[in-house]
Amino acid sequence: MTYLSDIEIANQVTMKPIKEVAKSLNLAEEDYNLYGKYKAKLDALELAKMADQDDGKLILVTAITPTPAGEGKTTTSVGLADGLTKIGKKAMLALREPSLGPVFGVKGGAAGGGYAQVVPMEDINLHFTGDFHAIGAANNLLAALLDNHIHHGNHLQIDSRRITWKRVVDMNDRQLRHIVNGLQGKVNGVPREDGYDITVASEIMAILCLANNIVELKEKLRKIIVAYNFSGEPVTAGDLKAEGALTALLKEAINPNLVQTLEHTPALIHGGPFANIAHGCNSVLATKMSLKYADYTVTEAGFGADLGAEKFIDIKCRLAEIRPDAVVLVATIRALKMHGGVPKTELGEENVTAVIDGLPNLEKHLMNIQEVYGLPVVVAINKFPTDTQAELTAIEEACQERGVDVVLSEVWEKGGAGGVALAEKVVELAERENNFNFVYDLEDSIEEKLTKIVQKVYGGKGLELSKVARREMAELERLGFGNYPICMAKTQYSFSDDPTLIGAPVDFTVAIKNMKVSAGAGFIVALTGAIMTMPGLPKSPASERIDVDENGTISGLF
Ligand code: ADP
Ligand code: MG
Repeated sequence: MTYLSDIEIANQVTMKPIKEVAKSLNLAEEDYNLYGKYKAKLDALELAKMADQDDGKLILVTAITPTPAGEGKTTTSVGLADGLTKIGKKAMLALREPSLGPVFGVKGGAAGGGYAQVVPMEDINLHFTGDFHAIGAANNLLAALLDNHIHHGNHLQIDSRRITWKRVVDMNDRQLRHIVNGLQGKVNGVPREDGYDITVASEIMAILCLANNIVELKEKLRKIIVAYNFSGEPVTAGDLKAEGALTALLKEAINPNLVQTLEHTPALIHGGPFANIAHGCNSVLATKMSLKYADYTVTEAGFGADLGAEKFIDIKCRLAEIRPDAVVLVATIRALKMHGGVPKTELGEENVTAVIDGLPNLEKHLMNIQEVYGLPVVVAINKFPTDTQAELTAIEEACQERGVDVVLSEVWEKGGAGGVALAEKVVELAERENNFNFVYDLEDSIEEKLTKIVQKVYGGKGLELSKVARREMAELERLGFGNYPICMAKTQYSFSDDPTLIGAPVDFTVAIKNMKVSAGAGFIVALTGAIMTMPGLPKSPASERIDVDENGTISGLF
């Protein structure tokens, strides 16, 4: 059986004018700005006016420990929202916006897949409403102001060996990871070593996603640490008097983007921070607005439930003062087989034993969601064309034996109709009482917070702090950041910090190599190893297969 590509499916569907989608949310025309016929920006200022209105239910979609291909969280989120619409609920999506860079590499876009997509997918995956360009411009203005300050006499005594602020571009461009700039004599700046990150790794992206309003945005921008001076004290964006101009550049970008699914469910696609050095969730503003407009908001957190869901809860929910009502844990037969010990090259072959052997990974995530985060959860088996009936039956039976709620999700193949069972289960779960809990308290010391994450969520024995990390930790406490939440930068392929330890490892320690603060975003990043903040392209990049015909129709996006 051959399947249509994502963009072919998207092109077959007639979108509704976005005005009609807005009308389905009872939005008046003055509540949004049109960006063409099929995109609009809501007005973030409206949120404050809705403060006394009730919030709908918040549904978090997360996953078991993923394989390199992605397990289908976005696809499942979109299909679930369409499933909820199908059973007559007022549902809305609050999702991240894809980064431009990976679209041309291996990963492709991130607007869902198959019959569960958000559209216009080519816009969403390419320039969309320009938010990422605005974030890049704000980031690079700050970099320019910093070097300009040094050029003009450096009154702030910035130690150019301790500049922490990098320039960004929304491309996978390894050539820019490490550069030397300011060359060619006195008029052309002060030479120094520098480097680029991809735009989505910019702290400004994390800030935009965690700000509750424009005033908070400016305040967070002011606190960004760009460098340290010769006495070792932080130099901030505020010291460079940058926050006003940065906020001006972000004035439109802060407004959530309204689009629709293939089945016309409203979707807010807004913000896309990295899930390793940042928290990996869409904007707080979009989530909160969606909670006002819809009875069910479906949102996604990056990576598996040990990383994305933990940060969603301990960073996003805590800072935004929101809480989820139910969780969907996405699992695939492929990933279970991998956790059951099957090599990547043999995932296409039926292997019921391996599926069952992979269950401990799923069970550990389930236990975390139920007992650590205190939330009701359903497992959604995201059905792939390669899954066999024997494998699907085996996993359903194994879950039922363990008393786990499990539903087969066929949204990739069937859209909302394939998500009705999941939607019904989610509606039921969201009504249950829950014991929502953070993993640690902000008042815990940094070391206590890290230990709680490692022991309670990862299932490890404890921490191994490098000498450097210890020194940095003491320094962060001295600078007054001890009460910030933690953002773990760890491999997504294992509960541990070793990507080869699949399944549900025990008895391991997690080595923290470095610690730094994102003072504006408001969290401490704990690095368990070198984290890539500027990806590269593969030998045969997806761009070689992307084209546009004489009518302007794009092909090759996925
Ligand atoms: P995640 O959000 O977990 O990274 P995505 O939903 O973006 O995952 O899906 C990753 C890729 O897998 C996408 O290209 C998507 O089209 C594809 N995919 C997802 N679910 C299925 C499925 N059930 N069958 C086939 N392909 C799928
Ligand atoms: Mg995704």
